[in-house]
Amino acid sequence: MSFDNLNLIFPLQRALSEEGYTTPTPIQKLSIPHLLNGRDMIGIAQTGTGKTAAFILPILHNMSASYKAPRPRFPRVLVLAPTRELAAQIGDSFATYGKFTRFKHTVIFGGVGQTPQVRALSKGVDSLVATPGRLLDLIQQGHVNLANVEYFVLDEADRMLDMGFLNDVYKVVGMLPQKRQSLFFSATMSPEISTLARKLLTNPAHVEV
Ligand code: AMP
Repeated sequence: MSFDNLNLIFPLQRALSEEGYTTPTPIQKLSIPHLLNGRDMIGIAQTGTGKTAAFILPILHNMSASYKAPRPRFPRVLVLAPTRELAAQIGDSFATYGKFTRFKHTVIFGGVGQTPQVRALSKGVDSLVATPGRLLDLIQQGHVNLANVEYFVLDEADRMLDMGFLNDVYKVVGMLPQKRQSLFFSATMSPEISTLARKLLTNPAHVEV
């Protein structure tokens, strides 16, 4: 199977060929068809397996079916990541895979000044990658509103719990529209993780690599 078989929109195919990626990794092969069909998904996969492209490619593909000009403060995609390093990496992947699309993304995390992040949000953003604490701060201040989120990704859920972000995650999820596509990635499975997954996902496909 090659990326050509997935029939992704041309701007995504072009970015992939520029990166020199011809063959999807196992997590991509297993996930992308479900995600293109709009299914919720739980993916058990480590970093390094290609899981970031596994969610970014189908999200950008599906979003492009109904292009809307990016709205200040109202992202259509929300990706929650536990650390600023992971958030920044996911942001880089949006830049790489989305470079030939019209979609705009931004990354917000704590430990740095919020002014540049607020400015980026106010210019209009399609995809927002965030760590939970800074996201909640900016929501409280009125710089982000989650009412238009259509695609929600919780990445590295197990680390999110280890780092004590469970309550923050629940707060964020409580602000999301009911009608959305949700994706959940974790390197490990535990009873706590499956409880969280059950609360976030509707009839999810299960993918494990
Ligand atoms: P991730 O697990 O998302 O952190 O990705 C691990 C690394 O694999 C990243 O450097 C990606 O750029 C790279 N990668 C993702 N998909 C592919 C692919 N289909 N072929 C080759 N490399 C890839």
